[in-house]
Order: sequence, then C-alpha cells, then structure tokens
Amino acid sequence: MLSLDLLEKYNTRGPRYTSYPTAPVWQETFGPEDYKNALVSTNLPPSDPLSLYVHIPFCESRCLYCSCNIIVTNKRDQAEKYLNSLFQEIEQVAALTHSSRRVVQFHWGGGTPTYLTPEQMERLFQFQKDHFQFAEQAEIAIEIDPRVTASEQLHLLKALGFNRVSLGVQDFNAKVQETVNRVQPVDMTASMVDECRSLGFESVNFDLIYGLPFQTVETFRQTLKEVIQISPDRIALYNYAHVPWMSPYQKQLPEAELPSGSEKFQIFQLAMQLLTDTGYVYIGMDHFAKPEDSLSVALKSGTLHRNFMGYTVKNQSEQPHGDTELYGFGVSAISSLNRCYAQNHKKLSTYDEAVKKRILPTHRGIMLSDEDMLRRKVILGILCQGEVDFAAFESDFPIRFKAHFADALQQLAGPTEDGLLTWTERGFQLTALGRIFSRNIAMAFDAYLSTQTQSEKQPMFSKTL
Ligand code: SF4
Repeated sequence: MLSLDLLEKYNTRGPRYTSYPTAPVWQETFGPEDYKNALVSTNLPPSDPLSLYVHIPFCESRCLYCSCNIIVTNKRDQAEKYLNSLFQEIEQVAALTHSSRRVVQFHWGGGTPTYLTPEQMERLFQFQKDHFQFAEQAEIAIEIDPRVTASEQLHLLKALGFNRVSLGVQDFNAKVQETVNRVQPVDMTASMVDECRSLGFESVNFDLIYGLPFQTVETFRQTLKEVIQISPDRIALYNYAHVPWMSPYQKQLPEAELPSGSEKFQIFQLAMQLLTDTGYVYIGMDHFAKPEDSLSVALKSGTLHRNFMGYTVKNQSEQPHGDTELYGFGVSAISSLNRCYAQNHKKLSTYDEAVKKRILPTHRGIMLSDEDMLRRKVILGILCQGEVDFAAFESDFPIRFKAHFADALQQLAGPTEDGLLTWTERGFQLTALGRIFSRNIAMAFDAYLSTQTQSEKQPMFSKTL
C-alpha cells in the first residue's frame, strides 16, 4: 500500500503537533505574569487532574544526533545547584495550585535524569510529593540511559513508586553507535530491561531512530530483530532530523553516510512490517505498542491523547474540551494549560536568575484564541482518533463545519483520491494508509503554516515520514 510515489508526494516538512499552535508561533511577549494569571485562573475548583514533567538537562556525553536542550558536564555540583532552583520553581507553582488537584502522570525527562545521584533523586521525588497530591494509580515514568544507570538507582526508583521506564536505544549496530557517539551494546540494554522487569516496572519503552549515518535496511533489520527479542511494551521510532543549523553538533556526523530518502523510506517500511507482523499495534506518528498496552487500548476506545510527551491516554475525568494540564519544571520545560502554552528559559543561568528572584522562569508562550482551541481539537482528532465528526464540533463550537473549514476540506481532495481518507455521513475518517500520513492531513487545518516561512536550505520542521 505504501508506495514510493505516495512517499514522494506526502513526505513534506511539517510540525509534529505535540502542541497547537506549534512552538514557532509562541511569543516572547508572553511572560511570567501571563503564565501566573493562567495558573491562577485554572486553579479554581472543581479541579481537574494534573500531569507534571521535570527536565534534568545534564548528560555525561553528547550523542551527536541529539537536538535536546542538554548540558554535558562532569561537574556534579552543577546538579546540586540545579536542584535548588527546581525546588524554588516547584514551590512557586505549587503555591498557585489548588490542593484538590491530583497528579495522574508524572515524568522525569532530559538530558539524563539518572545523572542525579540516588540521594538527589530521592530528595527531588520527595519534594514533589510534598508539594503535589499524587493519585493512587498515577503513571510515574522516567527516561533512563543504560550507560549511566546503576542497579541501585533502579531499585530506588521502584521503591519511590516509578512504574514506567523509557530507554534511549536508537540503533544496536556498532558502527552506527560509534559514529553517533553512543556506544550501548545490545547486552547492556537487554540486561537493564531484565532488571527493570524483575523489579516489577509495569512498562518498558524503547526510543529508536531511523535515518542515522551508516544505517541500511539490512543493519536496521538486525536492530529490529534484537529489539523484538527484548520485547519492549512500547516503541517510538523517530525519523532523524538532520538540522545542523539548529543543532550544531550534528555537523560532526558524516553527511555523505546518511541514508538517502528512499533508503530511509525502506527502513521505515521494514520497521512497520516487522513490528506489526510481530503483533505491535501502530498507534500513529512513529509509535507502536503491544496490543494489551494502555496506548493500544486507548486507540481502540477513542481515548488517545497527544501532548509534549507524545501519545498518552486521556484521563477519564477530564473536561470534555480539556486535556490533563501539564506543568513543566526546569530549564526549557514546557507547560500546557487549557488555554495556554508556556516555555521556561532555555539558558540555565537565565532560568536560575529568574527563580532566585522568585519570578516564574517563563521565556515565551501563547494564549489560545477560540479559533486556536477549535483547530487544536480538530488536529488532535485527526492524530489521535483518526476521524473528524462535523456534528460533534458543531455542537461544541458556534460554527457550521463545512463552511468554516471550506479551504481545509478542499485540500483533502488529493488525499481522498490517494486513499488516505474516506468520507462518512458525519465527517471523514483516516484509512490505515492515511494514519501514516496523519501529519499531512492535520496540516490542512493549521492556520499558521502559511504565515511561517520555510527556508528550503534551513527548514524549521522535519519531514513528515
Ligand atoms: S540522546 Fe539522551 S543521552 Fe544522548 S545527548 Fe541527548 S539527552 Fe543526552
């Protein structure tokens, strides 16, 4: 079904829609006071559940493909200083949060959260628990790097209540690993997964990347074989975005050895086939999960959601128009409230300075208009449920769907002809093929894309596949 012709037609550049409006649209005129006001106004009872994200920016070494906001350092006292800033930020936000709100999702990401010592991890966790109320069944997740995670840390995490782990793997091929400066043999990863499972972590996720230098269909087939053998519950298969003008360390990668567009496509096609043949369910946009995993169950029941942490499960007690609000802590962390997005300063010194002055460290953000709210809901419907029901939107918003989105619907004529979607009495639905290109369908409803200048030489967004 997935032909090279279709790939060429639809493999355009576009946002990943972990938010709408997407981050390039946010403004620096949105500052600490705006975020504070938004926090106050969303903390009136009755209160909805919360998600919390904490960013730990430190890494012991740099993987050359990485475009995360990280700090490579062996000066461990930096982490201690950072914790002090985090504590101040947590205190400030917790003071504005209604005490009845329960944390249903909690995530430590980075960087490398296990860069922290066991004592620091315990202190940080306890500090958050002292300032927020956790729901009994909260999903508590952490990103771990097998190269810098000790058995003692895993035991501690389990004892603290963490129930999910996510491991960066990327590729098991030795040459690829050496080239990207991330040597992590398959045995090291497999034994860490074994240990996580024997400790009782409920879910193990792997992050893989396709499109790295020296990857071929055959080398990636071997990586996939080894991944399938270890059998993680979820797999995120990311398309490597080579953007050295935005991530300068990528300049150290041998460009001539990057797989060509058609080879990348074949690698993706192979992964799709091997993973689904093995029983993994394609959740959407790079994500796969075992059929019994909560993401697969949510896909079936229409309760899939998407935020900065990728695909998640919608909380049952959420407001019909809302999502679980997400408070992000730490340098560069993003928060997502019902009607606004806010991002913290990306530079550590600026972040530290703000929290020391007892100012929220907000660097930029956006307040959503009614039109943004409407379009966000349509885009989430496409990416998460794979369908748009016009009548449902007409009952929630004061619009006639066909008239309001006449331009966008016109853009769907091509995808309809190509078998990406079908029309129903109530709206449209993405086909299995359309779900692979869901970003392209969603882009038709993005009101900002036409105003964003996309330089062909230095584009802002990665390719959709
Ligand atoms: S991929 Fe992970 S470990 Fe590697 S540099 Fe990026 S954040 Fe650090």
